[in-house]
Amino acid sequence: MSYKVTLIPGDGIGPEVIQAALVCVDALGLDIKWEKRIAGKTSMGQGGELLPKDTIDSIKSNRIALKGPITTPVGSGFRSINVAIRQLFDLYACLRPIKSFNSPKALYKDIDLVIVRENTEDLYAGVEFKEKDSDTDKLLESINKMAEKKVRPGSAISIKPISRNASERIIKFAFEYALGNNRKKISCIHKANIMKYTDGLFLDSFIQIAQNYKGKIEYNDVIVDNLAMQLTQKPENFDMLVLPNLYGDIISDLGAGLVGGLGLAPGANIGQNIAVFEPTHGSAPRHAGKNKVNPTATILSAALMIKYLGETEKALRLEKAVAAVFKEAKVLTYDLMPDRNDPNAATTQEFAEAVVKQIKNL
Ligand code: NAD
Repeated sequence: MSYKVTLIPGDGIGPEVIQAALVCVDALGLDIKWEKRIAGKTSMGQGGELLPKDTIDSIKSNRIALKGPITTPVGSGFRSINVAIRQLFDLYACLRPIKSFNSPKALYKDIDLVIVRENTEDLYAGVEFKEKDSDTDKLLESINKMAEKKVRPGSAISIKPISRNASERIIKFAFEYALGNNRKKISCIHKANIMKYTDGLFLDSFIQIAQNYKGKIEYNDVIVDNLAMQLTQKPENFDMLVLPNLYGDIISDLGAGLVGGLGLAPGANIGQNIAVFEPTHGSAPRHAGKNKVNPTATILSAALMIKYLGETEKALRLEKAVAAVFKEAKVLTYDLMPDRNDPNAATTQEFAEAVVKQIKNL
């Protein structure tokens, strides 16, 4: 079977980690035709737009992309190119597996958790009103007329929309993923005790949808601050989490910290028959061009992509190869060394070569 995939190397460390992932995917012997496109700072540097039309068209036509992190220049008119891509293609489900994979910096040995983050609404919807603006003042006046609690005059306002439709589809996605991937339990994460109408709606949608999976998947709900504490102490209590956008973002980084850092956390943004795979981390500009960062998050994002393509055996082989490199602990990037300044740390490229060697051994 042959595949055509849009490839966006991204900015900062993006091209290095993407190159490392390509070397590993190549070693699996898949027939993938990569259609290279640019976005972000790289595109602007070449006199183009932040999100060029031919990049959008390529994702639209291939319906699958592997993407490096993208820098959003401050004051560009976009809050984030990454959020813009997710919104443009309605990539409503953000899937972030958190697994130890023998990582030498994992705080616990057997972490195996899947985070499902709602990707389209909540405080990330981008509906904001700035301080000292006549529209904001009008809005504040209306709110203060309607609401029992008053908002301080002169405040800036961010809107937190949570809809039943978007909540139901992400929660269904989580349950269907659980069924298809042999997961046992889903925890709905919220702050419905405080945000009764928004998080309350998310929780209510969860309780309704969960009824359809009774006897098949266990479920419960946990308040987000309690989750943060429990995850650091007893991660084994959790199997899958489903969360609104903002909590999903924060808890994903907490999860990355549990297994050894941002360099290890892969991600997928999935919509209706369309998906963009990318590491959780950003473009880390201060490390760019040094061939030193950890490409694992991008390699594992490629593994998620390969699984999405239906090549499950090859995806598993890639994951096992990464785990084998960690187990040997001979070729590790600086972030996984006991001393981060250790001159013996592997380069990005050397790590990828070690993974390729393992792929060939498996
Ligand atoms: P960042 O994730 O880029 O970097 C924070 C720190 O994490 C780095 O300084 C580095 O110490 C560490 N780190 C990140 N990736 C690593 C890796 N692969 N290996 C080892 N260490 C790694 O976060 P930031 O500095 O807040 O953001 C930089 C830029 O990236 C911003 O412009 C932001 O908008 C963008 N960003 C993009 C995405 C995306 O494309 N999906 C996500 C987050 C941030």
